[in-house]
Amino acid sequence: MKLSQTDSVFDLVIIGGGAAGFMAGIACAENNPGLRIGIFERSSNVLSKVRVSGGGRCNVTHSCFDPETLTRSYPRGGRELRGPFHVWQPANTVDWFQSRGVRLKTEADGRMFPVTDSSQTIIDCLIGEAKSKRIRIQTGREVVQVDSNGFGFEVLLSNGEKLTAERMLVASGGLKKGPILNLIRESGHSIEPLAPSLFTFSIKDDLLKGLQGTSVEHCEASIPGTRLVQSGPMLVTHLGLSGPVILKLSAWGARWIQDQSYRFSCDVNWTGTWTQAETRDRLKQERTCSSRKRISGTPLFDLSKRLWPRLTERSGIPDDLPWSRMSSTHLESLFTHLTRTQFQVTGKSMNKEEFVTCGGVRLKEINFKTMESRKVPGLHFAGEVLDIDAVTGGFNFQAAWTTGVIAGRAVAECLQSCRSPT
Ligand SMILES: Cc1cc2nc3c(=O)[nH]c(=O)nc-3n(C[C@H](O)[C@H](O)[C@H](O)COP(=O)(O)OP(=O)(O)OC[C@H]3O[C@@H](n4cnc5c(N)ncnc54)[C@H](O)[C@@H]3O)c2cc1C
Repeated sequence: MKLSQTDSVFDLVIIGGGAAGFMAGIACAENNPGLRIGIFERSSNVLSKVRVSGGGRCNVTHSCFDPETLTRSYPRGGRELRGPFHVWQPANTVDWFQSRGVRLKTEADGRMFPVTDSSQTIIDCLIGEAKSKRIRIQTGREVVQVDSNGFGFEVLLSNGEKLTAERMLVASGGLKKGPILNLIRESGHSIEPLAPSLFTFSIKDDLLKGLQGTSVEHCEASIPGTRLVQSGPMLVTHLGLSGPVILKLSAWGARWIQDQSYRFSCDVNWTGTWTQAETRDRLKQERTCSSRKRISGTPLFDLSKRLWPRLTERSGIPDDLPWSRMSSTHLESLFTHLTRTQFQVTGKSMNKEEFVTCGGVRLKEINFKTMESRKVPGLHFAGEVLDIDAVTGGFNFQAAWTTGVIAGRAVAECLQSCRSPT
């Protein structure tokens, strides 16, 4: 369906029908009813990332209600989000959905999902809200050009249709080559280098062979020669290492790792929360207490029966050696492999559950009280198009909801004050 002449005049044009675009449009309409708001989405469906998110369950946000603590989950953008999180944080997200009939539940690790365990619940809520506020949602409409004319914007769609808008919101998601990247650059904005974030490490090492599915509850992973170190659960996959600790490391190291072309060393401390002294003492204690038992058959530090013998083998300990015959060299070698097994990473693979783009519109060029550009008046940004990204756990959507709400409210207020008679 083509837009008619009157249909092509908007107060706010939103580029991108994702989480940030929808939240912004709804917030704008709520705060200034009657505005002509349009969401333009290039693909045939809106909210497609919401649909696949969290394995189809949508990890909407995280049960962290202290703005300061919240910012620590953002390798990029945490500092800038401090103020915005005082305006709109996970508690607001929970209330917002709850007051629209969508109850959220919290899992043991803090991730929050709809009680239905279906992302469709979130999609239905956002689309229902947008429709009830008379926001026009157009799919199959790619924005290819935006020109500022001093009074507002002229927008060109890929099918040749033209729109005018008093204000624009770019909520086009993680940047890649294409018209949006070009138009952002042409508008005078800088783009922080783009790199994938939240990936798993490809490793070919005999120690991991056949161990896929093995998990270790508390691990520490670090990258030697850098300050990159993270702790948390680890998972061995058929490709290498994964799990929250690796995803966090990939997020904090996204740019450095890209610079190494995804080939680097990674150290793993399998004992996790044990200190070095405690680990050594524990091995010595076992040597005294379990003297007749085989070392390779006595897993310690909650390590699995499958992983433990790999570590003893790697430490040069014969399979049938009892603890009583463990030499100091064996003990030191086992200690070293337990606390620092070094792996060579040879590539990355994207995590099915969640991945994001590190990099995007430079944050210094944005006013975080309004999400408006400091370079082009009337142009706002929200969501992943900005140089903001987080570790897994619902933090990425939270950034989209927060920046979307702030942008939407700011547009609503501005259009109200610009138009109200003095
Ligand atoms: C598989 C997967 C699972 C995820 N799971 C989670 C999760 O459970 N929890 C979490 O917090 N985060 C999750 N994330 C990250 C999260 O989805 C994103 O951070 C979030 O969607 C960003 O929202 P956004 O609105 O900024 O961008 P998007 O959701 O990417 O929306 C942007 C939209 O803009 C459209 N667009 C782009 N260019 C144009 C154009 N020129 N014209 C018109 N439209 C355009 C795109 O088609 C897209 O629909 C996941 C990501 C992936 C890939």
